[in-house]
Amino acid sequence: MSQFAEEVGKRRTFGIISHPDAGKTTITEKLLLLGNAIQLAGTVKGKKTGRMATSDWMKMEQDRGISITTSVMQFPYKDRMVNLLDTPGHEDFSEDTYRTLTAVDSVLMVIDGAKGVEDRTVKLMDVCRLRDTPIFTFINKMDREVRDQIDVLDEIESVLKIKCAPITWPIGMGKAFRGVYNLYTDTIHLIQPGQASIVPDDVQIQGLNTDEARAELGADVVEEMIEEVELVRGGSYEFNLEEYLAGEMTPVFFGTALANFGIREMLNYFVEWAPAPISREAGDRTVLPTEEKFSGFIFKIQANMDPKHRDRIAFMRICSGTYSRGMKMRHSRLGKDIKVADAVTFLAGDRTNVEEAISGEIIGLHNHGTIQIGDTFTQGEDMRFTGIPHFAPELFKRVRLKDPLKMKQLQKGLQQLSEEGATQLFMPLNNNDLILGAVGVLQFDVVQQRLRDEYKVECIYEPISVSTARWVYCDDEKIFAEFKRKSAENLAVDGGGHLTYIAPTRVNLSLTQDRFPEVEFSATREH
Ligand code: GDP
Repeated sequence: MSQFAEEVGKRRTFGIISHPDAGKTTITEKLLLLGNAIQLAGTVKGKKTGRMATSDWMKMEQDRGISITTSVMQFPYKDRMVNLLDTPGHEDFSEDTYRTLTAVDSVLMVIDGAKGVEDRTVKLMDVCRLRDTPIFTFINKMDREVRDQIDVLDEIESVLKIKCAPITWPIGMGKAFRGVYNLYTDTIHLIQPGQASIVPDDVQIQGLNTDEARAELGADVVEEMIEEVELVRGGSYEFNLEEYLAGEMTPVFFGTALANFGIREMLNYFVEWAPAPISREAGDRTVLPTEEKFSGFIFKIQANMDPKHRDRIAFMRICSGTYSRGMKMRHSRLGKDIKVADAVTFLAGDRTNVEEAISGEIIGLHNHGTIQIGDTFTQGEDMRFTGIPHFAPELFKRVRLKDPLKMKQLQKGLQQLSEEGATQLFMPLNNNDLILGAVGVLQFDVVQQRLRDEYKVECIYEPISVSTARWVYCDDEKIFAEFKRKSAENLAVDGGGHLTYIAPTRVNLSLTQDRFPEVEFSATREH
C-alpha cells in the first residue's frame, strides 16, 4: 500500500444522528475529551449542565476568525484521525443536517434509553438509508431509570429496520448503574464516579463469572447478569462486520454521556470498525479516495450571522487526493480554475497543520457567492459528484413584500439564497405566490434577515396550507400531460426550474400518487 493510501485509511469521518435532548452535545464533548482535543477539567463549567465554558468555544472561534469550530471537529485517536461533522439539531435543524449525512462515511446514532426511538431519529435514518450508511448505536442515560433494554433494541429493529448486535450490556441502571459488560471479551468495565470532565480511568474486571466480579458487584447482581447475558446472547444477532458496513446491522453500546462512561468503550471499536473514506460516484465513474489527484464536493454553506464577517464558508468533503495551500482547483460547474490560498482546516489544537488535507477530511473555502451546494472541485478533470441532493422541505410559508415595488429584488434574493441550499423557493404555476420551503424553522428567520441586510427588502411571512412537496417525473409524456392538467393547482416550479407537486396534506399526496402510479414523486432532487 502506498503511504498516501495508508494515511487515507486512517481517516474516520462521521456524524451523529439523534432526537433533540438525547445527548448529542454531551457525547460530542466527551469524544473531544477522549481525543484530547479539549480539556474540560479546570475550565469554568455551568453547574447544571457540566458544559464546557462557552468562552472556550469562543476563544477557538476567535482564533479562526469565524464561528465554524463546531461544524467540523478533527482529532487523532489511537493512530486514527477522527473527523466529526456536526449535524445541526434543535432550532438550527435544517437541510444542512440532512446534507451533512451525504458527506460522512458512517454515523453514530444516539438513543435516549428512557425514550427509545423518537421521530427525528427516524427521519435522519431515512437519509442514511439513501446511501446505506453504516451505523453505530449508543444508548444513553443509563444513569437514569430507563426502559428495558431488550425492549429498546426490539424497537430499533422494528421501527428503524436494522439488526441490533449488542457489544456491551449495561450492569444495572439509574442509581444502581455500575458499568457495562463486554459480551465478546467477557470484560466488566466499571463506572468511576466524579470523572465526568477528565479522561476516565479504565477499571476492568476480566470475567463475569469470577470471585472478583462477585466481590465488586455483589453475588446477586452477578447471578442476575449471567442469566440476562445468556438471554441477550440467545435473543440477539452476533456482530458481523460486513452487515454493519452494508448498513444492515448496528453494533450497540450502552452508557451515560453525562457521567462520561461507556463512550470510550464504544470509540475503541468505532475507530476499528467504522469505514475509512469510501469511494464516491461522479456521473460515469467512481472516484476512489486513494486516487492521487484532488477532488471534492460542497455539502454545506454556512451563512455567517455576524455582520462583521460577511463572507460565507463553503464546506468541502475531500473525496480524493490532497489539498495543499495555494493549489489551483477546477470549479467544475463554472469550468474555471481558481487558486485557493486560504482554505480553513479543523484539526483541534494544532493550527500549524493547515497546509494540507486529504481524502475524507473537510476543508472550508471562503465563498463570495460563486460556490453552491453540490459543486464539484477537481484538479482539472471535468466531472461532477452525484448524491448530494435537495431534500423535500417540511415547513412552508408564503412570502409577502412590505414594499410591493421591490418584487425584483425579492425574487433575486430568494433565488440566490435558495441556491445556497438552506431553503427552497417554489413558484406555483397558477398564481403569483412565492412559497418558501425549509426543513428547519430557523431558516425562515435567516432568510428574512439576509433579505434585509443583503438585498434591502423587507418581507413578511404568511401561513400557507402546504404539508410537503415532491419533485415529479414521468417517462410517459401523455400521462405526464394528463397529470399536469389535472393537478395544475398543486404544481409549482422550484428555484432550479424543476416541476414540483405541492401537497396541501399528506392524504392528498397519497391519493394523487395512487391516481398516477406512473408518475414518480421524489422526496429528493439532485443538484
Ligand atoms: P442534544 O440535544 O442531543 O445535544 O442533548 P444534550 O447533550 O444537550 O443533552 C440534553 C440533556 O440531557 C442535558 O440536560 C444533558 O445534561 C442531559 N444528558 C445528556 N446525557 C445524559 C446522561 O447520560 N444522563 C443524564 N441523566 N442526562 C444526560
